[in-house]
Amino acid sequence: MIAKRCIAILGGGPAGLSAALWLRNLGFEPCVLDAAERPGGMQNLNFLANDWVLGQTGQTGPALAARFVDHVVSDGVQIRTGIRPVRLEGTAGAFRLQLSDGSPLDCIAVLVATGTRYRAEEVLTAVAVISDIPRERIAYGPHAFAELGALAGQRVLIIGGGDNAYENARLLAPVAAMVHIAIRSQPRAQQGLVAAVAVEEAAGHCRVLCPAVVESMASTSASIEVTLAVSDQRERFEVDRVHVLAGYKPNTAFLREILPTEVYGRLRFDGQDYLIVDTGGRSGVPGLYAAGDICNPRFPCVVSALAQGAMTAKTIEMDTRPK
Ligand SMILES: Cc1cc2nc3c(=O)[nH]c(=O)nc-3n(C[C@H](O)[C@H](O)[C@H](O)COP(=O)(O)OP(=O)(O)OC[C@H]3O[C@@H](n4cnc5c(N)ncnc54)[C@H](O)[C@@H]3O)c2cc1C
Repeated sequence: MIAKRCIAILGGGPAGLSAALWLRNLGFEPCVLDAAERPGGMQNLNFLANDWVLGQTGQTGPALAARFVDHVVSDGVQIRTGIRPVRLEGTAGAFRLQLSDGSPLDCIAVLVATGTRYRAEEVLTAVAVISDIPRERIAYGPHAFAELGALAGQRVLIIGGGDNAYENARLLAPVAAMVHIAIRSQPRAQQGLVAAVAVEEAAGHCRVLCPAVVESMASTSASIEVTLAVSDQRERFEVDRVHVLAGYKPNTAFLREILPTEVYGRLRFDGQDYLIVDTGGRSGVPGLYAAGDICNPRFPCVVSALAQGAMTAKTIEMDTRPK
């Protein structure tokens, strides 16, 4: 298929969908490709009301994501789900993207908006020795808290000190038997959440351990025995579950696989593997752009992803004007 004005958008989260809307309005044919079966990105994992998007009061993350998807689809944007890029060939103005279903997509530019994922097993391999812990007792990411009722009366260790860790500790503390929060260096959560957790701590529902490093976790007959180095002391206690909420990793690794070596070598990454782009989303490789959380915005959130997607779409329009 030769589509002269097609722009391939990798990732159908807020950044990719916003770029798709703007590109469509600017006269292009955006095609959104998402590896997940359900488009919408990380907001699909946010079971709370997202009150941070102007004009979208009371929407849970999935409801908000569905609104974004509905908007672009009703404007004629094509979204293909459950599909990944496997190879990018060609140059700006004439790219061919080989896709995981065997089909090619010809496009004039590619926008990478593949966001981030939770840091998962790597958190535990870095800090702890684990033995024989049933998989269902360890959860990664805040969506594990969606069913708070199922955690009632349990002893939970949360590993992490950012907004997600504190938000979920705050929600869980009133219903759990005890919530321990282990923070390696210092809390990074917003002040309101830190204050709310302090109230739960004063009520005896939760304990903040900081600086704390999990040294080992071992399965007992009905629980998990954890050992932590807390300041200069060693603490050992039992919990029923461990929840890891310790930050994110950018979804950039696939770029090494899909790009020719010399093209990949021209991309720039920061020390945490996030893509470095200019203010218009240009990656340094002509025709290859990026937007959203994958670029390590100062405040990763829905509105910054929407804005970056829009700005990058506009950059693409300017870069592809006839000279
Ligand atoms: C639990 C939770 C709660 C949050 N709450 C809020 C909140 O209240 N307010 C707020 O503003 N922000 C919140 N955020 C942050 C917000 O969701 C993100 O900042 C935003 O979704 C980033 O958008 P994005 O499009 O850059 O990336 P993402 O939303 O991560 O979307 C990336 C998309 O790329 C796809 N993808 C990944 N790899 C590939 C690949 N190789 N090929 C094709 N597709 C791929 C993924 O499937 C995904 O759909 C929350 C995040 C989480 C996880």
